[in-house]
Amino acid sequence: MKTEAAERINVEKIREDFPILKRKVNGKPLVYFDNAATSQTPQQVIDCIVDYYQNYNANIHRGVHALSQEATEAYEKARITVQKHFNAKESKEIIFTSGTTHSINLVASGFEEFLSDSDEVLVSGLEHHSNIVPWQMLCEKTGAKLKVLPMTEQGDLNMSQFEVMLNENTKLVMVNHVSNALGTINPIEEIIQKAHEVGAKVLVDGAQATPHIKPDVQALDVDFYTCSAHKICGPTGIGMLYGKRDLLEALPPYQGGGEMIDQVSFEKTTYAGLPNKFEAGTPNICGGIAFGRALDYMNNIGFEKIQAYEQELLEYATDRLNEFENVIIYGTTTDKKTAVISFNFEGLHPYDVGTLADKMGIALRTGHHCAQPIMDFFKIPGTIRASFCFYNTKAEIDLMIEALQKANTMLL
Ligand SMILES: *Cc1c(COP(=O)(O)O)cnc(C)c1O
Repeated sequence: MKTEAAERINVEKIREDFPILKRKVNGKPLVYFDNAATSQTPQQVIDCIVDYYQNYNANIHRGVHALSQEATEAYEKARITVQKHFNAKESKEIIFTSGTTHSINLVASGFEEFLSDSDEVLVSGLEHHSNIVPWQMLCEKTGAKLKVLPMTEQGDLNMSQFEVMLNENTKLVMVNHVSNALGTINPIEEIIQKAHEVGAKVLVDGAQATPHIKPDVQALDVDFYTCSAHKICGPTGIGMLYGKRDLLEALPPYQGGGEMIDQVSFEKTTYAGLPNKFEAGTPNICGGIAFGRALDYMNNIGFEKIQAYEQELLEYATDRLNEFENVIIYGTTTDKKTAVISFNFEGLHPYDVGTLADKMGIALRTGHHCAQPIMDFFKIPGTIRASFCFYNTKAEIDLMIEALQKANTMLL
């Protein structure tokens, strides 16, 4: 079973697609285990970006000239690629944004006119700051009450508490599909269903799930879903917001400008329909096209294979880390988690371990991972986080373990 997944995915061949994996860091071969912060970019996506700027760079939706038409066509084709990937009903339900943070702020700002001080907004305790702060800002502006769904010692959401907290005043529920700090896969199906029973809308932050899972927004019946292309082999500065059509139509525009209008006069401006209403100004055209290419690249490998292989890496790394007597792993959910391990060594500061690992070419993340409330829950300043992608190998995990052994010897 184990070798099968590895064969099916052909890691050696995949690694050839990622030029950056050939470089050295501090004289050592790069071992890149910070995939939860951003993924590396395959040559196919880099080529797509170069092709755009070399051959058909032009502004979209405006010109009758050939280049503008080619760029428009490629950009709108990418939107359909994204629509198909997430199984949205219509391509107009896919709004290109600069990423998850932008997507969440767009929705939060749109709800300003729909909330009042008798309403409640429920945010999970496992969130990234970008799915906390916009809702706090919304609550400050509207007087709505922000409630936090607590987490457990294992890094799961306390689901029995969820039912207790939901009521007819709950207007919005926010949860990440996967926690970036711990890797927990949250029970979003159940959350969506229960939230809908009281009439609340649900926004799922998919930034950390989309590198590992192919979500079906119609099957989930989710109201809003977000992602960032840079975590799924695409470039930075582009991502998407999925929203159900009627909800997106009801929300007011986020920004005013070109592209988002129908008719403009000083007396009255009417807005364009979806998706343009939410894409004011010249968008990240090349980014959108490359985002589509990145999804094609990942789908070519296949998400089932990706998941099977990454689970293997997760199990192997967890076993090897548990060889350390002083290791503490956070997020020991009994349900499935993605290939993310957050850990500390008793007696060592995460930052010191991370710095020493970097000297040996190993890129680990240390700190609060933009999720300070989770660190507060565990009463720690931060963790060391190793997050794996389908281009990583067990040999790289062995190199990390060696580096961590050295760090333990030197620092303890
Ligand atoms: C990365 C991440 C974000 C933020 O994404 P940006 O691309 O920085 O906007 C939000 N939520 C989760 C769970 C993430 O992993």
